[in-house]
Amino acid sequence: MSHWYQLEADVVTRQINSHLEDGLTTAAAHQRLLRDGPNELIATKGKSPWQVLWEQISEPLVVMLIVAAIISVIVGDLRDAIAILAIVIFNAVLGFRQERKAERAMAALKKLAVPKVRVRRDGQVQECSMEALVRGDLVLLEAGNVVPADGRLVKTVNLQVQEAALTGESAPVDKQATTVFTEEQSLGDRCNMVYHSTTITRGRGTFIVTETGMGTEIGHIARMLQSVETEPTPLQKRLAQLGKVLGAGAIAISLVIATMGLVQGEPLRQMLLTAVSVAVAAVPEGLPAVVTIALALGAERMLKRHALIRHLPAVETLGSVTTICSDKTGTLTENRMTVTVLDIAGQQIDLSNNGSIGNQALRLLLLSGAFCNDASLDNNHAIGDPTETALVTAAAQVGLPKRKLDQLWPRINEIPFDSDRKRMTTCHRCDQPLPDALQQIWQQVVPLNTQAVIFSKGALHSLMTTTDRVWLNNQVQVLTDALRQRIYSAHDRLANQGLRVLGLAFRPMTTVPETDQLEQQLVFLGLMGLMDPARSEVKDAIDLCQTAGIQVVMITGDHPLTAQHIAQTLGITRGISDTILTGQALSKMPVENLDINVTETGVYARVTPEDKLRIVQALQRRGHIVAMTGDGVNDAPALKQADIGVAMGITGTDVAKEAADIVLQDDNFASIVAAVREGRVIYDNIRKFIKYTLAGNVGQLWLLLLAPFLGMPIPLLPIQILWINLIADGLLALALSFEPAERQVMERPPYRPNESIFSRGMGTDILWIGLLLGGVLILVANGYWRNDDPTWQTMVFTTLAFSRIALSEAVRSSSESLFKIGLLSNQKLLGAVLLTFCLQLMVVYVPVCQVFFSTVALSGGQVAIALLLGTISFWAVELKKVVIK
Ligand code: ATP
Repeated sequence: MSHWYQLEADVVTRQINSHLEDGLTTAAAHQRLLRDGPNELIATKGKSPWQVLWEQISEPLVVMLIVAAIISVIVGDLRDAIAILAIVIFNAVLGFRQERKAERAMAALKKLAVPKVRVRRDGQVQECSMEALVRGDLVLLEAGNVVPADGRLVKTVNLQVQEAALTGESAPVDKQATTVFTEEQSLGDRCNMVYHSTTITRGRGTFIVTETGMGTEIGHIARMLQSVETEPTPLQKRLAQLGKVLGAGAIAISLVIATMGLVQGEPLRQMLLTAVSVAVAAVPEGLPAVVTIALALGAERMLKRHALIRHLPAVETLGSVTTICSDKTGTLTENRMTVTVLDIAGQQIDLSNNGSIGNQALRLLLLSGAFCNDASLDNNHAIGDPTETALVTAAAQVGLPKRKLDQLWPRINEIPFDSDRKRMTTCHRCDQPLPDALQQIWQQVVPLNTQAVIFSKGALHSLMTTTDRVWLNNQVQVLTDALRQRIYSAHDRLANQGLRVLGLAFRPMTTVPETDQLEQQLVFLGLMGLMDPARSEVKDAIDLCQTAGIQVVMITGDHPLTAQHIAQTLGITRGISDTILTGQALSKMPVENLDINVTETGVYARVTPEDKLRIVQALQRRGHIVAMTGDGVNDAPALKQADIGVAMGITGTDVAKEAADIVLQDDNFASIVAAVREGRVIYDNIRKFIKYTLAGNVGQLWLLLLAPFLGMPIPLLPIQILWINLIADGLLALALSFEPAERQVMERPPYRPNESIFSRGMGTDILWIGLLLGGVLILVANGYWRNDDPTWQTMVFTTLAFSRIALSEAVRSSSESLFKIGLLSNQKLLGAVLLTFCLQLMVVYVPVCQVFFSTVALSGGQVAIALLLGTISFWAVELKKVVIK
């Protein structure tokens, strides 16, 4: 059997039972979907449960606990051994579930990011999800798309595809629908086919789907691009490191205590038990799971703010962002463009004032804008790039509907728009006469034997390189310096009003031109000014960034004057120099100068995607954490380089989205700022429960360390410590991750990237709170033990539990008193506080628990004392806040 690339496109179409123009019917597509299943790559099996379990129990800290359990068995304390093992298993199961849950959450987020595909079904272009594609579908491709299935091309215009995902070849290859091969070809040479997961770097094309899902080439080689990896975030790595240090410290301390005890003649069993307790007390069992949960919760909360997280570490990095580099169009502005001004030599019409289009030259300008255009207009609903839809709409309003024009003069060639060239050109075959309204002018413009017409539009400076004549007084004239000057002045006047300005040119041809002739000797027609209002919420978001110590930088492909107007409206350059760097100046600037300028520049204009990359790199060299937005194919390198790559969900290309860490579902700058704020809250909360957990552990360690010096037996049994760690590090710390934002969260500078987690006083807080807690516990222990009170251990145990419960409320804010933020503002924590309190009473009073936890019932007075003493560290933390204020 022949391969698809050895057949003509129409033969392929027939064999697959589809239609070359209309595509499949919706009903047929539906049937095929049921028959063949969805077009998805099924992720290779992740780790087996045993593997995950093994990873959990081979963690150094867990190994330490297992050793502790073994020692307990040796000294004949089976109950502790069982309890320790129970905790180990419980944590392993929790960690396992957590890992799975985080994976599933990220997979769900990734699913949301699955690209939409444009297909032709029932003869109409429709959007459908990539998964709903079936064999026989006609799929439309354009620059920036990721190819959603394998297929035979049926139409191509300058199509180039990057196939590195499949062939490893990183240079884009040209594709040609008309080629048919007779010989066998290797994958990389089949230029009439496109393959799943490759990306379109230039041009346009249509292909008929021949294979979907696991039947595709990429499916065969099972290179699972979709497989979800949950890489540890920098914070998680640092915590793992910290865990190891704590573990090593605990072992050292245990050895010291045990040796000292033995030297003093204490029994071996007693000393081994103490060593086990110390080890158990030092290990923050719940911490890694809580951090993962906090990050995953954060990703969910960010989604509510329209920021879809693609990589978990982004949640954490967002909180440290120091600079946000944003595109202008669509992110800072609404991307609702309208043509408001038309300018041809000597005449300007303000369309927003209902200026009438009596002049034929103005009609010609609008006509060119409609021809040189990829947007479409159906029933007043425009589809396509907003710059282009504005042009199509303006033309339709004066009786020049694009659809009709395209039928009269079909497009036969084009050089597509790209942000580097900043212009596009199309060529049309003059099949039929134009409508009456234009006949008159057309007879003047076009010599009778015109075969084709070229139209071009773009940024003025770019367009001017292709023009040498101008349309003036209804005829073609030489473009003199004086005329050129006049055009540039008119341009600047429009740009100064904040309008995006496009130049338009055309050229009638007596022969059909080759592609390399399309942008030569064009006739300049005039200018169009497009209005794109700033988004109303952006100004406040920029103000917020400024109080939060985050610099906002606008990077735009537009003209400096247009950029300046918008920047001033939004207050971007407040507090820094208002000089604007252009892409041109940037590319000539030596690196050292760039590094100096980069922190002082708020606006970059006329930039190309490569410039964006240079700006990110320069900012990073100056120690900034950069979030950078992008939408085009060429933005991918800058998005990858940025600490947070932000892709536009609505207007962004699939390639940009794949390169990004977050995808903005509403393309709105304000959503980036909301995500940054959310990131800060999450980081704050993670710091809070690290502080909470470690301060508690330090307190427990002090108690265990000092007790032998006072001649006491171990004041807390391993099982009791495990219990405390379970309720405190598990329940209470987890509830802390639901803590709402502190009031001043956006009023302080961002955390420095390499700032230690213990910075800003947290390390000292952990030490003194721990010391105080340890001190209180020692007093309780010593007091009751000296009096030979049989409740002494239960008193220590209960005071510790109450202390940790009270402390969880105190650490909620580092500066605001609990009485100000209110108990009810974190109801989950309040619930956890009440629950843990009841659980502790249960452990003390329920007979079965008494046996298991070695507790005895306390009197009402004793509970009151434990409660009172338990709040000491709470009051101390609250007092510190008052003193600092
Ligand atoms: P920003 O960078 O502010 O988000 P942008 O990404 O839309 O803007 P580009 O798309 O690179 O910027 O456009 C740069 C310039 O190219 C515009 O100022 C305009 O002059 C020109 N231009 C934009 N769109 C088109 C188009 N569809 N056809 C021709 N020229 C265009």
